[in-house]
Amino acid sequence: MGKVILDSFGLYSDEIIVKEKLDPFLVSISNQYFKTTLYHNSMHGADVTQSLCLYFLNSNAEEICQSLVLDLLGILISALGHDLGHPGLTNPFHINSSSELAITYNDVSCLENFHASKLFRTIRNPDTDIFGKLSVQDYKTIRKRMIGNILATDMANHGKIMTVIKSRISINKAENKTKFELLSGNEKTKFEEQQSLFDYLIHAADLAHNTKLFNISLKWVELLSEEFWLQGDKEKSMNLPVSFLCDRDSYNIPQSQVGFIKGFIIPTFDCLVDIFPTLKFTMDNAKTNLKKWEKLVCKGRLKGWTPEKTKQVNYKKKMILFSAISSISENNNNNNIRVPIRKSGNVNSLSHALQVKKENENENNKENSQNEKNDKRNKDGKNKMVRPNIIMKSKNHDKKINLHRLQKFK
Ligand SMILES: [Zn+2]
Repeated sequence: MGKVILDSFGLYSDEIIVKEKLDPFLVSISNQYFKTTLYHNSMHGADVTQSLCLYFLNSNAEEICQSLVLDLLGILISALGHDLGHPGLTNPFHINSSSELAITYNDVSCLENFHASKLFRTIRNPDTDIFGKLSVQDYKTIRKRMIGNILATDMANHGKIMTVIKSRISINKAENKTKFELLSGNEKTKFEEQQSLFDYLIHAADLAHNTKLFNISLKWVELLSEEFWLQGDKEKSMNLPVSFLCDRDSYNIPQSQVGFIKGFIIPTFDCLVDIFPTLKFTMDNAKTNLKKWEKLVCKGRLKGWTPEKTKQVNYKKKMILFSAISSISENNNNNNIRVPIRKSGNVNSLSHALQVKKENENENNKENSQNEKNDKRNKDGKNKMVRPNIIMKSKNHDKKINLHRLQKFK
């Protein structure tokens, strides 16, 4: 998937990356996610990257940012590796337990610093050094960009990210701008101004499952809840304070989702639509999901989600590395899904992919290393899940052409 995405943006080029190292790099990234972590695994990394791609492909984000090619490369690679090596335990757990990570990173964005560090260790490895052709200055610049991107995925930074982006939206409205403008024109602050939008976009993509169709979002919510609850069980066994949302005995999923969508998702994606009106479908889905969760709160319970029922399910054994697509394509080795990208209209990410997949089942398929790996896993019986290869490509290749026009790093 990583290679196809980079290619869709015109980034799979000898001028930009060391092409022969991309496959080993992507395999290494995938392998560094823990298969035993229920939510923060490689599927989440792929899902966030896919959401981010949708934002870029269906908006004029790169024009607003006056992006350079390597800005885009940086944020896409950041998304792929933004939760690398996630152990399924939150920052508060690390801080409360005085873990190795908390000590190493002085309690500040412990996990996010760890993910960024792991990603750059991979990039520094001679076998997987996809940035090997960059000059020292370019490398320093993209590294700064990417560290910022990954640190932006710490929920503790939500308020800061939103304040900056809301203030920019307010300035635009006060000046009666018909289109969102990001840059003030001051060259000295340009990098930080661009970074503020990149940080906001990756943060939004990290929360994006709440803006997908309800049945898809529900599965992510279920996995995340169980990951939290396993942490709560661990905290209880270690006599640590049980972290917020982590007590399976008192947690109410619909109620919690209503609070989260109202408090975080709606404000976040409201801004996204303010900036990029073509992404309105994300808000539409979020509002629909909110109504569905509210109905479930009214019912007082959700079938199958009582604490007693949850305890019976061994999620680690089931290893639900689901995707919306795989739910209809399990045991099908031809999982390439072509997702045509439109500049406007209701491009509804995975739901659209499902529809298009049916239409394009007999189209030419590309096999990549991830599929081969999955085939092997399936043969070994270690992982019954077949991961989809999501192909995102513009029919007109407009994006690719535009991106090639972008100025490169000097
Ligand atoms: Zn994440």
